[in-house]
Amino acid sequence: MGHPLFVIFFMLGAIVFVVGLLLRLFLYWQGQWDWKALVKGVLSVFFSVKILKLVEITLMDGILQRKIFGQDKLRWLMKVLIMVGYPGILIAGHLKADVMPQFEGYSFLLRVFYAPFCDFYFFRDLTSMSPSLSDGVFAILFDLFGGMILAGELIAVYRRFIAKATPFKSSLGDIVAVNLLGGWFILRFFCEAISILTYSVPNSVAQYWFISFGLSKIIAPLGIPWSSINYPLWSTAGLFLAALVAFIPYNKKLWHIITIPAVMFVELMPPKAFQPGVRKAPLPLSVKELISLDACVKCGSCVEVCPVYTQNKQVEATMGGVFTSLKSIVKKTYGFPGMFLGPKNNQEALKEYSDHPYLCTLCGRCALECPAFIDTKQVRTALRGFMVEKGSYPQPMDQLAETLQKVRNIIGEPSEDRAAWVQALGEPPKDMFQRERARVVYFTGCVASYFPMTKRIPQSFVQILDKAGVDFTLLGGEEWCCGFPLIAAGMKKKAESYMEHNLEKVKEKGAESVVFACPSCYHTWTEACQAGNHLQLFHSTQFLKKMIDEGKIRFKEKMTKVTYHDPCDLGRASGVYEAPREILRAIPGVELVEMEGNRDRCKCCGGGGNLEMVRPDLSAAMAQAKIEEIKATGADMVITACQQCIRSIQSNARRKKIPIVVMDIIEFVLKNMNG
Ligand code: SF4
Ligand code: SF4
Repeated sequence: MGHPLFVIFFMLGAIVFVVGLLLRLFLYWQGQWDWKALVKGVLSVFFSVKILKLVEITLMDGILQRKIFGQDKLRWLMKVLIMVGYPGILIAGHLKADVMPQFEGYSFLLRVFYAPFCDFYFFRDLTSMSPSLSDGVFAILFDLFGGMILAGELIAVYRRFIAKATPFKSSLGDIVAVNLLGGWFILRFFCEAISILTYSVPNSVAQYWFISFGLSKIIAPLGIPWSSINYPLWSTAGLFLAALVAFIPYNKKLWHIITIPAVMFVELMPPKAFQPGVRKAPLPLSVKELISLDACVKCGSCVEVCPVYTQNKQVEATMGGVFTSLKSIVKKTYGFPGMFLGPKNNQEALKEYSDHPYLCTLCGRCALECPAFIDTKQVRTALRGFMVEKGSYPQPMDQLAETLQKVRNIIGEPSEDRAAWVQALGEPPKDMFQRERARVVYFTGCVASYFPMTKRIPQSFVQILDKAGVDFTLLGGEEWCCGFPLIAAGMKKKAESYMEHNLEKVKEKGAESVVFACPSCYHTWTEACQAGNHLQLFHSTQFLKKMIDEGKIRFKEKMTKVTYHDPCDLGRASGVYEAPREILRAIPGVELVEMEGNRDRCKCCGGGGNLEMVRPDLSAAMAQAKIEEIKATGADMVITACQQCIRSIQSNARRKKIPIVVMDIIEFVLKNMNG
């Protein structure tokens, strides 16, 4: 039999844990879910190659913290120590309880809840006998993993409270959690040391608990009557452990022990697994989004890398800040008390935060840093949807929706003028590139179609396609906005009719492929067309690369030094980094120099996520920071592959009279084509 008080405390802690778990589940229950879709989604991970992916990310990202390796070394060490220590001690403890003869006769509950955490019994029972090899191995593992956790916790305390490595304030709950975590392990080592002294465990046995053994040697000279404090101290340790277990569902920091593996899993499930069910869910967020909100531990990793934060220093508008404030509103409104009191009206709080979710370009940079694996961009977009549902959001979003409703483009120009840029070409064909049927549709997008600064992009692209003999067409006035600005506004439902319309028009042309020069259109289509659509989708850079490989495009020599800016929706969102670089390398004489932040570390230019509509000053400041980075390369020009990036960088450079050449890769290719 184990230490009775220890067991009683532990069981009480477990009961409080279960109550907290039910409260958490109650909030998820309020969200949008559909049993069938969820079960199918779970099975689709278990019975596909995704299970290998899950193993890989658990090992490489979850345990070995691949994401932060080589960045902040102390943080990496802290995470690895904790992430190896916890599973290690639990697995070793449970194995020990299952295989060691000392546990024969223990009830199932004791073996599960008590034995893995406590070596109290060993010191009493093993004093007169030689430990077996297994006893020794388990003892070493216990102290090794325990020591790792303690070291990790000490680093965490140092980073948070001394080095102030996170800009978020620690709540009282966080401080209690850290104390319980560290306190339990410190107490446990002391308890073991005191048991070694109480039972006069011979060195040949005690040495396997190497940390406790060392500690026992240090405290032995104090000459305290060890047997009188042995039992009370183990009881206190039991209380600490029970409090720790009980506190898990009530504290963000501790609850993420559960939510982080859950986020890893749900991220592998297909998006349709989180579709709303037939029932009317009270909370307009999916289970996945609620789990993700829960998983945010306010670690602050998303703060310094955020190009918006770099400009406005508003920590409450960063991912961690928005997740924390809105989670608190969601909890108060839809959590357990709401069941009795009815959903609380949080209009005041919602008003206070109304623009915070919109102070972001949805560039996705923060997702690379998030140790909780949160799809930050997706969750933030869903939170914008939540704000729209609650009627608390920046007014320009309504103007955007109204303009789109009227003319189907974000500029407010007549729909029939969408392909007016063709007329400016020297000798446009009679059909103005609008054919009855074609194998390829070039989807132009609103910005390139209407903004004078960016019309050169479609004008250059149709010339390249024409020269290369591609059978293509435009949709002209039949093309509507792709819906991306509405999705970014949090009005996803409204965007659906736009996607359906465009898809219908492309099908009417009998096209096999659609090509986009706009990364946001391309990304929106790739997301929308996932379900059973056989259209091939290309970004212009991929299409150009294909034409170069097929020998349809050849280049003359051009001696110049260029740098390339990765548009967020093409790079981070769609994973297209190499196609544009390969195009540039294919042009003889072109020297490509990279910016400090390139590929997935590329800094956003400030043009995305509808930020320009809400805070044009912030968007401009981000563009200015981008210009500084471009200038630092010493390149003759910056090439990009997005009309919005061109607008953003070029407009700011013109306003500030900064002589900088900004060009879309399509225009650069046309200028340097042979013949
Ligand atoms: S998506 Fe980009 S702009 Fe938005 S919070 Fe993350 S890093 Fe900042
Ligand atoms: S969103 Fe991720 S990176 Fe940002 S504070 Fe939360 S857990 Fe940390």
